[in-house]
Amino acid sequence: MAESSHLSEAQRELIERARELGHDVLGPLAEKGQPGRINRPLVRALGDRGLLERVLPSEGAGSAVELCLLREGLAHGCTEAETALALQGLGGYPILRSARPEIREAWIPRLAAGEAVAAFALSEPEAGSDAAALALRADVDGDGFRLTGTKMWISNAPEADVYTVFARTTEGAGARGVTAFAVPRESEGVSGEALALLSPHPIGRLEFDGVFVGAEQMLGEVDKGFGVAMETLDLFRPSVGAFAVGMAQAALEAAVSHAARREAFGRPLSEFQAVAHQLAEVATRVQAARLLVHHAAAAYDAGVRPVRQASAMAKLFATETAQHAVDVAIQVHGARALEKGHLLEHLYREVRAPRIYEGASEVQREIIARELFRETV
Ligand SMILES: Cc1cc2nc3c(=O)[nH]c(=O)nc-3n(C[C@H](O)[C@H](O)[C@H](O)COP(=O)(O)OP(=O)(O)OC[C@H]3O[C@@H](n4cnc5c(N)ncnc54)[C@H](O)[C@@H]3O)c2cc1C
Repeated sequence: MAESSHLSEAQRELIERARELGHDVLGPLAEKGQPGRINRPLVRALGDRGLLERVLPSEGAGSAVELCLLREGLAHGCTEAETALALQGLGGYPILRSARPEIREAWIPRLAAGEAVAAFALSEPEAGSDAAALALRADVDGDGFRLTGTKMWISNAPEADVYTVFARTTEGAGARGVTAFAVPRESEGVSGEALALLSPHPIGRLEFDGVFVGAEQMLGEVDKGFGVAMETLDLFRPSVGAFAVGMAQAALEAAVSHAARREAFGRPLSEFQAVAHQLAEVATRVQAARLLVHHAAAAYDAGVRPVRQASAMAKLFATETAQHAVDVAIQVHGARALEKGHLLEHLYREVRAPRIYEGASEVQREIIARELFRETV
């Protein structure tokens, strides 16, 4: 793959293996799933193939570059598998990094094996982009806390087995008054409902009605939970870009192949400069997005902190590029791409949400701008 010539051989092999697994093994399992619901056989297969263990390793903290390569490769072959892997990581990483040893032991091996499913519950009806405004209460009760409130648009809810929940422990303290907890779905007082999105993404709303959590379920320390959330999002943000790059690459390849074969006015579409140049532009942008993603992830792995600006650039550019790539690929295909079940119809539904979650594009621009002007104030 010329587009991956900057990677090591082992890295190229990893992305290629993820692509193949996505196409040959995980794609057929995804087809048997129900849109909007957790596909447990798919999660189990990700565990059996050792991919979840790479995201939630029993030793160490996981590599951002590796996460990006897995997500790009899987996205090319099977977006549902890509999403299942990412969500398991997002929900499990705070437990891996910040749980008491007994809680970590109770969940991480099962999450890495794909036997249990995790979710990351930060957003609320009145706290999305401004996550520090979250209001779900954690009131002290004996040697634990009681959680009361609502979480909204939580991937893998309401069926996940364990939720990383971010709750308000100090009123009026914004990001400095949030505490994180690992909450099993089975806990008394937890309920929820599935939500149907444009994409097949499993997602729902969660209600916490005085749910008791012991102090040992805390992730990190009291009032330090926002840091737990940010540590997780710092690792995952470039990899949202990798998901987008995988989708964009799949769309580009479909468009190139179609344009080379489909004839109109007595010649292949590829011989119309208006078509070929659009694809040249897309190919250039996709490769630029890939390099931004790998740069941000490599900086993260090298211990550069903060990686905020590089991550924001990677996520912003890759997700916006993927939207454009899928749109151009559909235009090149004409009507057939809009038929239900066509790869591009599927990607058109999948490509929209990453521009909103884990920081909308406008929020990423805010982050980049803040860094630009940091030195001037
Ligand atoms: C598919 C999907 C999966 C999700 N999964 C999860 C999950 O697993 N866990 C979880 O906790 N949450 C999850 N979310 C929620 C997601 O994090 C929020 O949707 C996101 O933070 C945006 O919040 P909001 O939707 O409330 O939009 P709002 O915060 O209301 O923002 C709406 C729009 O306002 C604009 N805007 C907001 N802030 C600014 C700003 N500072 N400057 C300029 N413009 C701005 C942007 O255009 C933004 O899109 C998911 C969402 C989706 C769509």
